[in-house]
Amino acid sequence: MRLITRILLCASVLIVAAVLISCALILHAVDRQKRADAIKSAETDFSEIYYTISNVNTVLSDPILCDTYMTYKVKSASHLDQLTLSYDGTYLINNVGFTPEPFLSETSENGIYHYVITRVGGTLYLMIGTDVYYGDRIYIISMVRSLHELDAAMRTLILQCVVIGASVTVLFLFLAWFILSASLKPIRTLQSGAQSIASGDYGTRIDIHRKDEIGRLADEFNTMADAVENSISDLREQNERKQQFINDLSHEMKTPVTSLLLNSETLLTRTVSDADRERALSRIHEQAEWIERLSRKLMQLVVLSDQIELVLSPVVSLFDAVRETVVDSLDRAGVKLTVECNDETFLMDMNLMRSALVNLIENAIKASERGSTVELIARNNEILVRDHGKGIPKDEVARVTEPFYMVDRSRSKKLGGSGLGLALVKRIAEAHHAELVIESELNIGTSIFFRFSDAI
Ligand code: ATP
Ligand code: MG
Repeated sequence: MRLITRILLCASVLIVAAVLISCALILHAVDRQKRADAIKSAETDFSEIYYTISNVNTVLSDPILCDTYMTYKVKSASHLDQLTLSYDGTYLINNVGFTPEPFLSETSENGIYHYVITRVGGTLYLMIGTDVYYGDRIYIISMVRSLHELDAAMRTLILQCVVIGASVTVLFLFLAWFILSASLKPIRTLQSGAQSIASGDYGTRIDIHRKDEIGRLADEFNTMADAVENSISDLREQNERKQQFINDLSHEMKTPVTSLLLNSETLLTRTVSDADRERALSRIHEQAEWIERLSRKLMQLVVLSDQIELVLSPVVSLFDAVRETVVDSLDRAGVKLTVECNDETFLMDMNLMRSALVNLIENAIKASERGSTVELIARNNEILVRDHGKGIPKDEVARVTEPFYMVDRSRSKKLGGSGLGLALVKRIAEAHHAELVIESELNIGTSIFFRFSDAI
């Protein structure tokens, strides 16, 4: 059932109940008031009659004469179509068409009068009566008034109430439908917005500017849609990156694996000279080494999580460990390493930071001429590796941290590179909540910084 139908149904039940109760209370009050007026008027008239009848000077002893006298008194007191006179159950006067005594016997008492309002043969009557003493005889005198007009007026009033109540209810429902339709319009807008998002249109936003609950709901909806859109685009980006990574990896693996297969097949299927055999074996060894380095870096990259344990460690120990690792590479390339640090300490994982700095220094060595110098520096909140080598072209600086990206691919590969070093360094920086900044100028040199968020 639609919300508007449900609200209108509830509202109509409530309004009908309210109209019915109000009408019933009003009608009851009017009816009571009219009856009270009728009783009061009847009492006034009846008390005059009673006074006239009960005011006797002579008391007759003969019962027949008594009855005649009382009949005379009553007849002279009022219109007889409203009065009855009875003695001991025998009516001396009765023009009302029924006997009122049985009704009056179980009535309310108001002073000396008994009265009742009751229906006889479908007509509403007011009956009022009392005992009149004449000598030792007790007569009952009663006055009966038809309340037909009052009854008819009440029926008309009830009819009017029903008509007015029904009209008010219909008018109210029409107005309520009109107001509700206008008020629920933003909910329909929200509903269609949610449907658009559910069907994949994540750019959908709700254009409702109100300061009430609906306005706040629309704002919350838009905030939620922003979050969903961002998450979806992050997921897409991640997915694309993963796909790209897999494509690049399979592409990178193709050449060495083919080379391994070809060389091993040659050795297995052909008779080759000693020199050719040696060349094939050295190619196999080279490619196997390359694959081993690649898989080591891949493993590091894959298992590196953001939940590493960072320990406050002195940079001097880190630099000592790094120098020890790269000393052979430096000697082979004829490059000098200068180290500059004081007593700085950083929150870090020593092994990961050593791996990152070794990667950076190996890159610096590869880019430097013999006799050049590579600097390893720690100051304030940063650690940096600087070289005076060939530099990185400006438009490629942003891409060198992408997995498998190499500026001079054939040269890098010849030097045993796989293009994963800087991708790994970037992940290590992220795990340390540090920013990796690359500054480079062609033929001048490159500086790569780890900028930690806080210097300790
Ligand atoms: P790997 O590190 O996996 O053995 P790699 O050194 O080629 O291989 P990265 O360390 O990721 O890969 O570096 C990516 C590319 O960025 C390198 O191929 C190189 O072209 C360029 N590069 C990195 N560091 C420097 C540097 N200090 N000077 C000049 N070019 C650099
Ligand atoms: Mg490298």
